[in-house]
Amino acid sequence: SLTKDIQDIRADFPILNQEVNGKPLVYLDNGASSQKPKAVIDAITKYYTEINANIHRGVHTLSQKATDAYEEARKKLQLHFNAKHLEEIIFTKGTTDGINLVANGFTSLVKEGDEIIVSAMEHHSNIVPWQMLCERTGAVLKVIPMNQHGELIMEDYDKLLSEKTKLVAVNHISNALGTINPIKEIIDKAHQYEAVVLIDGAQATPHVKPDVQELNCDFYVCSAHKMCGPTGVGILYGKEEWLNIIPPYQGGGEMIKEVSFEKTTYACLPHKFEAGTPNIAGGIVFGIALDYLNSVGFDYIQQQEEELLNYATQELNKIEGLQFVGTAREKTSVISFNIQGCHPYDVGTIVDKLGVAVRTGHHCAQPIMSFFNIPGTIRASFMFYNTKEDVDRLVEALQKARTMLL
Ligand code: PMP
Repeated sequence: SLTKDIQDIRADFPILNQEVNGKPLVYLDNGASSQKPKAVIDAITKYYTEINANIHRGVHTLSQKATDAYEEARKKLQLHFNAKHLEEIIFTKGTTDGINLVANGFTSLVKEGDEIIVSAMEHHSNIVPWQMLCERTGAVLKVIPMNQHGELIMEDYDKLLSEKTKLVAVNHISNALGTINPIKEIIDKAHQYEAVVLIDGAQATPHVKPDVQELNCDFYVCSAHKMCGPTGVGILYGKEEWLNIIPPYQGGGEMIKEVSFEKTTYACLPHKFEAGTPNIAGGIVFGIALDYLNSVGFDYIQQQEEELLNYATQELNKIEGLQFVGTAREKTSVISFNIQGCHPYDVGTIVDKLGVAVRTGHHCAQPIMSFFNIPGTIRASFMFYNTKEDVDRLVEALQKARTMLL
């Protein structure tokens, strides 16, 4: 049983305590973005009230304070993900930005006929940058297929791997299906062919604490906004050796050693990849969000979310005509489904009128929808601050929507 009081946790999230369309809010769109605890909201105000200044350039006290706070956040991220070196943590705008940074970095390292492997259940942001890399280089995109449960078919992955494989990019957890992928196995197998592996951790990092050294991935990316932190900031973890090999993504201030019109030399890691004034408040507050998640504790988070997943699966199953999309054995607290005879968009609109926020549509994963031959799904995604009452409200709202639409 859970030791922490869920009501105390909910009290940390002021936004949850409101009415939407005259009904108490039930927020089940955490997969798209999580809510923010008061500690995070307060830290944003504190930053702009007390220490706002540009970093890494000023000799003055505020600039030093801002720099220290920003670098302290980097240190927290290093410890959290167990990166070997501090310089392996690159601040980005988020997951999408991190993937684009790596995909661009490999332009001169990939040649015609090389192969890049993604999976059938990727978010568009882990498909399109690789397609663009293929267009630039003549490399070929290969796709690990999945089965009807929304699990990757690992035997087919084995068959795709070869000496031609240069890169493998897969998500840790699927945003549309909730599937937890066997990334350790995926990484180890790719390394047998000396392929480089990027893990899209956008949906994993709110729920689990990945150890990048144990995983031995070459790159791992995530977004703060899904982890109780602010939007517009995330990190790219990269092995030092790779970050030294790939060229900078953007040119500008902060990323140089010396500039003349004849020649420019680049700064050392991590600054080489951090051109321009970054999201300073975002980076600092990402660290605060991480502190918050760790104070709740990933054991608690997983226990709470597993209870919610099981309870919601059981209760949703009672709705006539409800079909789950994604029934993997290894799954996180993301549930995609459809109700027979009802368009997901109509269901989403009605349940919103009843105060329940869910996501509907293709979830930026159109190939998954094509695979299941559906226009989209209704997706309820849970965080540790959700409750069984939230599940009950969801089910009640869905029953009403079904009656109205059929
Ligand atoms: N990958 C996955 C699996 C995601 O769920 C998301 C966000 N929905 C992204 C990538 C992109 O993240 P961001 O929009 O924060 O860059």
